[in-house]
Amino acid sequence: MKPDTICIQGGWKPKNGEPRQLPIYQSTTWRYATSEEMGKLFDLEATGYFYTRLQNPTNDVVADKIRELEGGVGAVLTSSGQAANFYALFNIAQAGDHILSTAAIYGGTSNLFTVTMAKMGIEVELIDQDLPEEELAKKFRPNTKAVFGETLTNPAVRVLDLEKFARLAHSHGVPFIVDNTFPTPINCRPFEWGVDIVTHSTTKYMDGHACQTGGAIIDSGHFDWDAHADKFPGLTTPDESYHGLTYTKAFGKLAYCTKLVSQLMRDLGSIPAPMNSYILNIGLETLALRMRQHCANAQKVAEWLEKNPKVGWVHYCGLPSDKYYELGRKYLPNGSCGVIAFGLKGTRDDAIRFMDNLDFISIATHVADARTCVLHPASHTHRQLSDEQLREAGVAPDLVRLSVGIENVDDIIADLEQAMAKM
Ligand code: PLP
Repeated sequence: MKPDTICIQGGWKPKNGEPRQLPIYQSTTWRYATSEEMGKLFDLEATGYFYTRLQNPTNDVVADKIRELEGGVGAVLTSSGQAANFYALFNIAQAGDHILSTAAIYGGTSNLFTVTMAKMGIEVELIDQDLPEEELAKKFRPNTKAVFGETLTNPAVRVLDLEKFARLAHSHGVPFIVDNTFPTPINCRPFEWGVDIVTHSTTKYMDGHACQTGGAIIDSGHFDWDAHADKFPGLTTPDESYHGLTYTKAFGKLAYCTKLVSQLMRDLGSIPAPMNSYILNIGLETLALRMRQHCANAQKVAEWLEKNPKVGWVHYCGLPSDKYYELGRKYLPNGSCGVIAFGLKGTRDDAIRFMDNLDFISIATHVADARTCVLHPASHTHRQLSDEQLREAGVAPDLVRLSVGIENVDDIIADLEQAMAKM
């Protein structure tokens, strides 16, 4: 099926006499007739639901739709995008390990990697994604366990060279993990470019209406953990907490997702509420339609901004003048997303006055939904970063992040124009 069809028909496939709409299984527990049946579930010898902290049918159906959209073998939903990125890495790394991540990533992810995960003894080294391959190759160490990046970075909207990083990761025996939140699988399917694991903040375009917070992790099933068994003992050696079961032997291509659910979800939680997954599923039904409109609107707004004498610079890979135009044409041929980064001529106060003068375009700690919104990352989402980290993340002090929604584009431009006129 084509992505537009999967958005609607994927996931919930009701059998005869079952509800057409995805049911919300708002239950923490499941009943079993014998204690033997329950015991088998605990030993991973049988499949079935027993406790929502590990798995819930509503969540699993929505995970399956996202898996189909990305073209993977398994998927797990989490309660936030933060949890998704943390679990994606923590599932294969532990104290003493090293991870390479591109520096131009969402500020919250950067904080998670360099502050919180550092406290757990995992060193995440931030690297410049535009360095030549031979320079990046020097960054790998014997204890490097993964490479991480964002397909389209938040907020600087740089395009990641997926093939370059997949080559680098694989030649060093580690998986390449990509946060595909901004393009969504409608505009980019990273597995087709060699990426092994994809993550999402489903809070963004997938939901599309700013209704729920969620995340997703999808495994392509391509990475051969056993071929690098010494690097990934958690997957390739017996797990004492499951009576000596070895995930790669017991579950094959589903080893990564099974370990994530049965170990990390069991011990740390972070499962989404079934109600949130239901809401996410409704958002997913219109994802393809919305992405087309976001991209068409953002292209027009970016072109308008570029011609505007009050605007100093614009970053949007749909503009031929953009540094990432060629990479965008390669990896995002149908459009990138609705997010544009730009800087106004004038002082920081002018930028703040511009934002305060906007009418229906709201200032929101959010991005990527139906309503156009704006944010000044250096003062908001990225304010925890030092000046040097801001530069590395591609966040200029004057960067305004505009998330173009799906309203009529003439109204969006009119609101921007009247706010700039009052600067
Ligand atoms: N990844 C990206 C690219 C994001 O933009 C965000 C949030 O803005 C996250 C991850 C974190 O997601 P959440 O806010 O759902 O935890």
